[in-house]
Amino acid sequence: MHNRVGMGYDIHRLVEGRKLLLGGLDIPYIKGLLGHSDGDALLHAICDAILGAIAEGDIGEHFPDTEQKYQNISSSELLRNVLILMHKKGYSIANLDTIIIAEEPKLTLFKASIKKNLAKLMNLNIDCVGVKAKTNEGLGGVGRGEAIICYATVLLTKPT
Ligand code: MG
Repeated sequence: MHNRVGMGYDIHRLVEGRKLLLGGLDIPYIKGLLGHSDGDALLHAICDAILGAIAEGDIGEHFPDTEQKYQNISSSELLRNVLILMHKKGYSIANLDTIIIAEEPKLTLFKASIKKNLAKLMNLNIDCVGVKAKTNEGLGGVGRGEAIICYATVLLTKPT
């Protein structure tokens, strides 16, 4: 087996008047993530982790935020395209691990649903998906509830 590891990071501002989407899941909250797309920082971090593992640059190169066609696009659609590219290179995902850092809303109740949704979007077994949620202990912009940060690590595998 040929293995590749990739890491991804993303941060989006939390603002009023936007939906809060994390891992493709619609989370009830008074604010949502600002972005050219739907602002799903978790899916963006996952896209970057996969792109990194296959040495294909980053999400900004593939889906520039200067292009009208990506405005308000569902990040699930971006992920779908990244997965197609990954499959073209012969890789599949062995496992995925993620961290969401958000002061609010409290994500404890949503972690299981986010995990389930990620498994569905990526056609993975649920026990190959990690979703962890933390606060920033009140520190910095994330601690003040101004933004959400997400990290993702992925292991890809290809038969030799
Ligand atoms: Mg982003």
